[in-house]
Amino acid sequence: MQPDRRKIALGAIAPFTGQPLGHFVDGVAVAGEGVSFAVTDPSTGAQLGEARDASEAELDAAVAAAKRAFPAWAATPGDKRKQILHRVADLIEARAEEIAAVECLDAGQAWRFMSKAALRGAENFRFFADRAPAAADGQSLPTAEHLNVTSRAPIGPVAVITPWNTPFMLSTWKIAPALAAGCTVVHKPAEWSPYSARLLVEIAHEAGLPAGVFNSINGLGETTGRRLTEHRDIKAIAFVGESRTGSAIMRQGADTLKRVHFELGGKNPVIVFDDADLDRALDAVVFMIYSLNGQRCTSSSRLLVQRSIHDQFVARLAERVRQLKVGDPFDSATEVGPLIHPRHLSKVCGYAEIATADGATIAVGGERLPGDGYFYSPTLYTNADVSMRIAQEEIFGPVLTVIPFDDEVDAIAKANAVDYGLAGYLWTNDLGRSLRVSNALEAGMIWVNSENVRHLPTPFGGVKASGIGRDGGDWSFDFYMETKNVALATGAHKIQRLGVVA
Ligand code: NAD
Repeated sequence: MQPDRRKIALGAIAPFTGQPLGHFVDGVAVAGEGVSFAVTDPSTGAQLGEARDASEAELDAAVAAAKRAFPAWAATPGDKRKQILHRVADLIEARAEEIAAVECLDAGQAWRFMSKAALRGAENFRFFADRAPAAADGQSLPTAEHLNVTSRAPIGPVAVITPWNTPFMLSTWKIAPALAAGCTVVHKPAEWSPYSARLLVEIAHEAGLPAGVFNSINGLGETTGRRLTEHRDIKAIAFVGESRTGSAIMRQGADTLKRVHFELGGKNPVIVFDDADLDRALDAVVFMIYSLNGQRCTSSSRLLVQRSIHDQFVARLAERVRQLKVGDPFDSATEVGPLIHPRHLSKVCGYAEIATADGATIAVGGERLPGDGYFYSPTLYTNADVSMRIAQEEIFGPVLTVIPFDDEVDAIAKANAVDYGLAGYLWTNDLGRSLRVSNALEAGMIWVNSENVRHLPTPFGGVKASGIGRDGGDWSFDFYMETKNVALATGAHKIQRLGVVA
């Protein structure tokens, strides 16, 4: 019998639902005094609790705590930071089931994916913990007359602002390298899924993180998020979310010249050539858009399929989409859960009308499912072309748009004909073609004959409207740290003598 995971999740959030969820600042829980907003269970529509929008004073207090804690944390030896961050990972692992259950409850993500996402969060901490001792290391760049030595130092208190699609895992991905680098953090999780962030900050303190090093504040984007990104004591903003929010944050941070790292939206193509292993390609096509309810930045939401195999491939695809198991996220058999919020559901629903008005066909789905939860039927749009809105806009739901192509040149042109450029997936058994197309695709990450398999030392990020900067490996440290060069003269090199009477 399956454990009652809903009960586990409700138990985990019980300490935060009797009164509105506040903040965690300077090592202690703060009840909060700002207005509160509802947090709902997407699979039932029932209210789980409320959370508080931080007041200006509370936001200032969180940034002040991060600023106060910064010098000591930055000076803490890398070995010590490593030890504490490994302990954070240990505690995440110990509570992985609880964290995963909270993600199912709060974000509506299916258990089959969340059971691994919590462990991925622990892995993120371990990966950057191991690199903390060498984070400050630089290069030696000698010339004939100087020895140039570079080093890195943490930039200061940073803001981390995250979305609701896989809230826990995404937060660890940003917060772990920031802490490993020696920065202090003020985290603002998404207002629609705030609970797992609270678990994370409490775990981090239980693991021995000093007070003020990692602070978590709740609130809305336009108020708390805005104030955080405008705050003069915040030195950098790591943001994951929509592209237009990224633009707003860039404006908000402009006056204080903030360094920004943006992981934004995507409209990622999966290109299937007729020489590919079509069985594996089909598995990957279905997995990469219908897993995580399609609420995934790297989802392959556009299928570009070669015309010679189009009808046969799409018929098999439609069959698989019809058979997807939509249901309770806590059920291990569920493949697609609910969308996060009624507002998001209504956006996703709206595309069915747009698709037909633009001339596409709804081959499967295209409608809200009955009940109080925010369930949407897995949807397949066919007969689409690149000019249509369903081929251009990020829908962020279990919705796939199919576009046929003729040859390699046509595939590349269609793949690149969007504003976004996060990821691209390519299925072909022609080695030369895989290299040519990978080079030509305008995207930060390409997977060939593979679904999205993440290797933490590799760079993660997008081009065009999909982002600025890269995560992963040393790229993360470059963002959270300032590089300094010290030039030491090795001898008496010539210095022009000014102000000397000849
Ligand atoms: P969103 O941009 O609406 O919100 C993200 C966060 O920004 C939330 O915490 C929100 O409160 C905050 N925010 C909103 N307005 C703000 C403002 N003016 N100033 C400061 N903060 C503000 O995004 P979302 O709807 O929560 O998430 C979905 C989006 O995230 C999708 O576009 C998806 O592609 C993207 N995403 C990208 C990646 C990636 O790695 N590229 C990963 C996951 C999600």
